[in-house]
Amino acid sequence: MDIIVLNRKATENDINRILKKLESRGLKGTISKGTERIVIGVIGDTSKITEDEENTVRVMKGVEEVMRILKPYKLASRDFKSQDTIIKVKGRIIGGKKIPVVAGPCAVENRAMLMNVAEKVRAAGASFIRGGAYKPRTSPYAFQGLGEEGLQYLAEASKKTGLPVVTEIMDPRDLDTILKYTDIIQIGARNMQNFRLLLEVGMCHKPVLLKRGLSATIKEWLMAAEYIMSKGNQQVILCERGIRTFETATRNTLDLSSVPVLQQTTHLPVVVDPSHGVGKWDLVAPMAKAAVAAGADGLLIEVHTDPENAMSDGEQSLKPDAFKKLMSELKPIAKAVGREI
Ligand code: PEP
Ligand code: MN
Repeated sequence: MDIIVLNRKATENDINRILKKLESRGLKGTISKGTERIVIGVIGDTSKITEDEENTVRVMKGVEEVMRILKPYKLASRDFKSQDTIIKVKGRIIGGKKIPVVAGPCAVENRAMLMNVAEKVRAAGASFIRGGAYKPRTSPYAFQGLGEEGLQYLAEASKKTGLPVVTEIMDPRDLDTILKYTDIIQIGARNMQNFRLLLEVGMCHKPVLLKRGLSATIKEWLMAAEYIMSKGNQQVILCERGIRTFETATRNTLDLSSVPVLQQTTHLPVVVDPSHGVGKWDLVAPMAKAAVAAGADGLLIEVHTDPENAMSDGEQSLKPDAFKKLMSELKPIAKAVGREI
């Protein structure tokens, strides 16, 4: 028993009785109100519920049907919620007709550069400013980010441009600090299966941009989303950023087929990050266009004013002019697939 579909006549009282019954079995109910029906997702280990127990719920007042979901993820599944999830952040919408673009440097390096990039990406039509203050670097000797100072610059750039902030969390101990400055919390590829971190962000009230792990299958990625959602935070945005394959011509292999696969299997919005996907600035524009054509709900693009001297990911960063050009080239593609950019 994973999903309880209520009938049209179900009252608040009926719902409360069902939730109480679930609690008595050590389970929890999460309510999803669609335009047609109210559905209760059953959270917890439902595998131990016998058919007889399931039948005692099936006959309760207000219940139309009790169903099992064969997929291991429930709350993230389209079977649980058929309508697309739309996430609103300070007037920006992710998962709607308009395709928002998150742009900015890989890392916040200093105040002046961030202000400059923020102004330029805003003028070119970006919807969010990004930049890492806590960077997951392969080498412990490489630049690790400015920490809270970087977050302060992001907040200042946001105030100046009106662009909400997306920034990465690596350690649950930084959560309270990061929440003071960011509008969307990014979980990076390296932390996609950091389950304690996922549970922590699942308990907060800000949207989470969950990047696909370096070698994660789509199923594992959705299970990571499920971890966040199981704690009550339903505002999860998936971000395809490429996976490791045998190919070495690009930094990763950008799996654009995940976009239509996810549209079938989940109601969550899907953003594509061609910058980390290809790792080379001159390949970013073609893959950004392909992502929009494939149905992406958003893009994440690294932009730097001086990529040659960037402290991280300079080789894949667009200069502001190239970003501006890309934004205008994306317009007809978005239009062709019934979207706007
Ligand atoms: C980033 O967004 O700068 C980043 C570190 O990305 P990823 O986690 O996808 O490698
Ligand atoms: Mn980066």
